[in-house]
Formats: sequence, C-alpha cells, structure tokens
Amino acid sequence: MNAAFSHDWEHAVVTGGAGFVGSHLCAALLNSGTAVTCVDDFSTGRPENISELLDRPGFTLLEANVSEPFHVARPPDLVLHFASPASPADYLRLPLHTMEAGSLGTRNALALAHGAGARFLLASTSEVYGDPQQHPQNERYWGNVNPVGPRSVYDEAKRFGEALTTAEADAQGTDTGIVRLFNTYGPRMRGYDGRAVPTFIRQALAGEPLTVTGDGLQTRSLCYVDDTVSGILAAAAHGMRGPVNIGNPNEITMLELARLVIELTGSRSEISFIERPTDDPAVRCPDITLALDKLEWEPLVPAEEGLRRTIAWYRAHTDS
Ligand code: NAD
Repeated sequence: MNAAFSHDWEHAVVTGGAGFVGSHLCAALLNSGTAVTCVDDFSTGRPENISELLDRPGFTLLEANVSEPFHVARPPDLVLHFASPASPADYLRLPLHTMEAGSLGTRNALALAHGAGARFLLASTSEVYGDPQQHPQNERYWGNVNPVGPRSVYDEAKRFGEALTTAEADAQGTDTGIVRLFNTYGPRMRGYDGRAVPTFIRQALAGEPLTVTGDGLQTRSLCYVDDTVSGILAAAAHGMRGPVNIGNPNEITMLELARLVIELTGSRSEISFIERPTDDPAVRCPDITLALDKLEWEPLVPAEEGLRRTIAWYRAHTDS
C-alpha cells in the first residue's frame, strides 16, 4: 500500500490539465480538496476529458498556450507543468509547438510558481534516457539521445526543461521538483494517438490486425494512470528536487502486450508486423528505488487489471 501523501495545497495550477494524465491529476487534486486551475490550449487534449470537472466547485479552465505569457486569477501554491504533446504521433505533427512547450512553456510555468512562492513540478519523461545503454534506468544515468533525430523535438525539449528547472531552483530559490514519467496508460488515451496500448485496444475491438512494430521484442514498462498520479502527487508533497522515476518496473514485450490485449478483449484479431520507427528505444524500464525509498511509492495495479479497466473504458467510449 502506498503511503498516503499529506499536503495543504489550496490551489494548484495544472498546465496540460485537459490531457490524458493531466485530467486524472485535476480530478485527484479536486477529490483531495485542492482547487484547480487547468491551463490548456487543447492542441492534443480534449474538452470531454474535463467535461465532468467543469461543474465541480473549485475547478477553473483557462484556455491558453503556456508558451506565451498567461495570467492566473488566483495565486497557486502548487504548479504542475504537464502541457506538452506526448505521443510520438503528436510531437512529430507539432514539432515546434513541442519544443516551445518544453522551453518557453516551462519558463512561463516556473515564473508563475516563483512569483506566487509555489512549489513547481515538471513532468519530464523516460525519453530523456533516449535509447538507453543502461538497463534498467536509474536517475543517475545521463541517457543516449540523438539530438537531431526525429524524436529529438520531444526528448531534447524535456531535457532542456529539466536543465531550466534546475537552474531556476539554483538561481532563484524556487521550490522545484522533476518527475520522470515512464509509459503510462489508462482511460482517456486517444485511440489514434499512436501509443501501443490504445492502438492495440482500438484494433482489437474493431477486429483489425494488431500492428506490432519490428519483431515486437522491444520492451516497455507500463504504469496504470492511477499509480502514476499517486506517484506524481507524492513527489509534489514530499518536496524533493529529484529527478525521480515514476513508472512500473514490470517489463513486457510489445508482442506479449498485443497477445494480452487480444486475450482480454476476446478479439479474433491477428497480429501483423510493421516497420519500426527510427530511434525507437529497444528497452525501457525504470529503476524505482529512489521513489520507493523517499516517497514510499510503488505501482499497485497489475497489467491485467489496468488493461481490463482501460478496455472497459474504450468499450463505453467507442468514439475514442
Ligand atoms: P496529452 O497529449 O494527453 O496531454 C497534454 C496536454 O497538454 C493536452 O491537453 C494539450 O492540449 C496540452 N498542451 C500541449 N501543449 C500546450 C501548450 N503549449 N499550452 C497549453 N496546453 C498545451 O499527453 P499526456 O500523455 O497526458 O502527457 C502529459 C504530460 O506527461 C506531458 O508533459 C508528457 O510529456 C508527460 N509524460 C507522459 C507520459 C505518458 O505515458 N502519458 C510519459 C512520460 C511523460
């Protein structure tokens, strides 16, 4: 059981709050009594992700691009910077927007936190490890990133965001933290966002072949979104600077994942193999020793259970 995090935040700003992870974060904060301002430009997020939150007391939506200066009516005591395209399909479609969200967006969100005396948390990513030469990856590993490869718009923007966050803490004394999120899945991922879990579920429910890239032996470690959210809030409440890995160390090959989705959906779909994208990492697995030691956090939802919940959501939202 994860240790319950205790906090006394009155008002949190969540940039990217209408996205997949951000919308779950907004809901968790509201549920724990914190008022939330969600700042989002809907470049990759969807209004329906937050439609249930709009009428809740304490929830405010500010439609704005965080890469340009934005103004929040009430000063926050917590700023969670999650605004950024995150799936390869999105950041390849929006390369400059992605680089700006990681650089100018991070700068603006940091300025908001500094001005309000708030704690700031950056959503970084396992992608800062690139195609890793150390396995599993702990926070001391510096990564193996191609700075001019197709994925660099995302990887390097996040690496710059981490550097900027660290510089801001050193130079300005802002209370900052960095979470490096590994692959997260769950309800509200878009079926066409290109990530493996929603793609496989959409294909399996439609009876289409599941498209596995390469030989399917590349691994990912998949963390259910409720676990990711509890890790993020634990890091925010702890006050640690990080970076800290938040992810599920249980590795699964893409082929195993495809077979599991077919089994859990009861689909008759077959598996077809397609070309693997450039610079796609071969392995990805977090070492979560730091999160366990400092935050007393670890993922609790097993893959089968998380996939069952996600599949149930997709069945109820066939337009996703
Ligand atoms: P998402 O695309 O569902 O959500 C991102 C949200 O940010 C969207 O609502 C989008 O409209 C908004 N946004 C993007 N650029 C913006 C801008 N300039 N101004 C205002 N809003 C903007 O993606 P997600 O999977 O929920 O990821 C959220 C965050 O978590 C991202 O920072 C991502 O890098 C990080 N992350 C996610 C994962 C994962 O597995 N989902 C893994 C690692 C890191």
